[in-house]
Amino acid sequence: MSAKGPHVLVIGAGTGGLCLAHGLRRAGLSVSVYERHTTRADGLLGYRVGISPSGSRALRECLPPELFDTFVVTCARAPRYFNVITERLRQTASFELRPDTDPVDTERSVARMTLRQVLLTGLEDVVHFGRTFTRYEQRDDGTVTAHFADGSSATGDLLVAADGTHSAVRRQYLPHAASRDAGTINIATRIPLTEHTRELIPQRLQQGISLIFGAGGMMGVLHVMEFKWDRHGEIKPGVGAADTALLRRWPGLRHDTTRDNINLIVWSATRRFPADIMRRRGGELVEVAQELTRGWHPRLRELLARCDPGSALPVKVSTAEPVAPWKSSTVTLLGDAIHSMTPGRGVGANTALRDAALLTRQIRLAASGDKTLVQAVADYEAEMIPYGFARVAESLRSSGTSGDDALYRPVIGRLALLGARSYFGVSSRVPALRRRFVDDFYTYRGEAD
Ligand SMILES: Cc1cc2nc3c(=O)[nH]c(=O)nc-3n(C[C@H](O)[C@H](O)[C@H](O)COP(=O)(O)OP(=O)(O)OC[C@H]3O[C@@H](n4cnc5c(N)ncnc54)[C@H](O)[C@@H]3O)c2cc1C
Repeated sequence: MSAKGPHVLVIGAGTGGLCLAHGLRRAGLSVSVYERHTTRADGLLGYRVGISPSGSRALRECLPPELFDTFVVTCARAPRYFNVITERLRQTASFELRPDTDPVDTERSVARMTLRQVLLTGLEDVVHFGRTFTRYEQRDDGTVTAHFADGSSATGDLLVAADGTHSAVRRQYLPHAASRDAGTINIATRIPLTEHTRELIPQRLQQGISLIFGAGGMMGVLHVMEFKWDRHGEIKPGVGAADTALLRRWPGLRHDTTRDNINLIVWSATRRFPADIMRRRGGELVEVAQELTRGWHPRLRELLARCDPGSALPVKVSTAEPVAPWKSSTVTLLGDAIHSMTPGRGVGANTALRDAALLTRQIRLAASGDKTLVQAVADYEAEMIPYGFARVAESLRSSGTSGDDALYRPVIGRLALLGARSYFGVSSRVPALRRRFVDDFYTYRGEAD
C-alpha cells in the first residue's frame, strides 16, 4: 500500500463495481475497473431496476453530488401505485405509494441502460473495457495481481469481485460457495410507448407497477417507464429549468438509447419453457411468451405482439447458497458475486450498492491508518454477509420466484393462487392492513438491518 493509500482493482463494471469506483474516487483513492464487455452498452440483463431508499442512500454517499442529482433526474416517473392484477386485467388489489418528494426516501424506477450510463459518467479513465478476468495471484508482499484473457495483468493492494452471479473471482477464491438455479425463467420484453399501446393499459396500471398473478402458474410484471426526454432525445416540455440544465450538461444522454416504454416481463417454472429457451432470441422468444400467455387478456396479448423483438431477453434466475465464513484477505466480493438472489423482492442491485458504500467506508478507514486493509475487509465482510444472505433468503421466499413454489404445482397451485390474490385483496381493502402493507414496503425497501 503506497503512502497515498491502497490501489483497488475491481472486476466488473456493473451496478456495484461502478458505485464502489465512484466512492473510492470521491475519497481520493486509486481504483481501476476491468470489464469483459467491449462497449458501454453491451450485455444488460432486463430493462428496469427498482432503486429503494437504501440504494439511493448508497448512491448519494458514493457519487459526486451533481451525478447523484443526474441519477434522480434520469429515473422514470415514480410509480404511484403497486397493483395486483389477474391475467384477465382484473385488479385484485391496489396500494397507493408515497409521493415522490424526497431524493432518497422514494421508490425509484430506472432503466438499466440509463443507470449504467450515469454510473460510467466521470469514470472514463478508470474503466477498462474488453478485459475478461481469468485468475489472480496473491503475493507475499501483500499485493494481488489479476490476469486477463488477452494476456494482460494488473497489480494492486485489493481485488474486489464485482463480476456478478457467475463470478470467476469467487470460483477461485471460494470454490465451495455456490449459486444454484432457482427453477424459474423470465422473459423480459420492452414495448415502445405510443398512443396505441398506452390506450391498451387501464389508467391505474399506467401509473403504477403491476404484478400479474396469472392462472396456471404464469406470472408477470407490467410497468410503464416515462422519462424526461422524448423519442428524439430532446428534453420534454414542462421539465423544470434545473432538471433541464442537468440533463443538458450530462454527456450520458448521448450514449443512452432508452426511450419511453412499457416493460412486460412474464415468468414461470423452468419446466414450462422449451429446453433451448436460453439460446432463443428475438421473434422466437416472443413466440414462447405468447404461447405461454394464450389465455391472457387480449390487451396484454396485443402489448406482447407490439414488443420490440430485439428487446426480448431470457433470464434464468439464480440464488446463492449460504456460505461458511472464510478468512479475510486481499480479495473480497460484493453484490451478486457473493449473494446473488432471485428478483422476488427487487433488492439485488440495492444490496450491491449498499455493499459498495460499506466497502468504500472501510477502505477509507484503512487508507487513513485507522486499521489494516485486511482488517477493513474483515469488518466489511462481517457486516455484509449477514444482511446479504438475509436478502437472499427473503427473496427466495417471495411469491413465485422459486420453481418449488406451490403456485407452480398442478392441483394445489390453484389454491395457492387464490390465497395469494386474497392476501393482497384483503390487505388493500382494510385501511389498517393497507397502511401496514405500505409501511412495511418502505421499511423493507429501506433495508435497515
Ligand atoms: C429480471 C431481473 C430483475 C431485477 N430487478 C431488480 C430490481 O428491481 N431491483 C434490484 O435491486 N435488483 C434487481 N435485480 C437484481 C440486479 O440486477 C442485480 O442484483 C445487480 O445487477 C447486481 O449487481 P452487481 O454489480 O453485483 O453485478 P452486475 O450488475 O451483474 O455486474 C457484473 C459485471 O461484471 C462483468 N463481468 C462478469 N464476469 C467478468 C469477468 N470474468 N471479467 C470482467 N468482467 C466480468 C459483467 O459483464 C457485468 O458488467 C434484478 C435481476 C433480474 C435478473
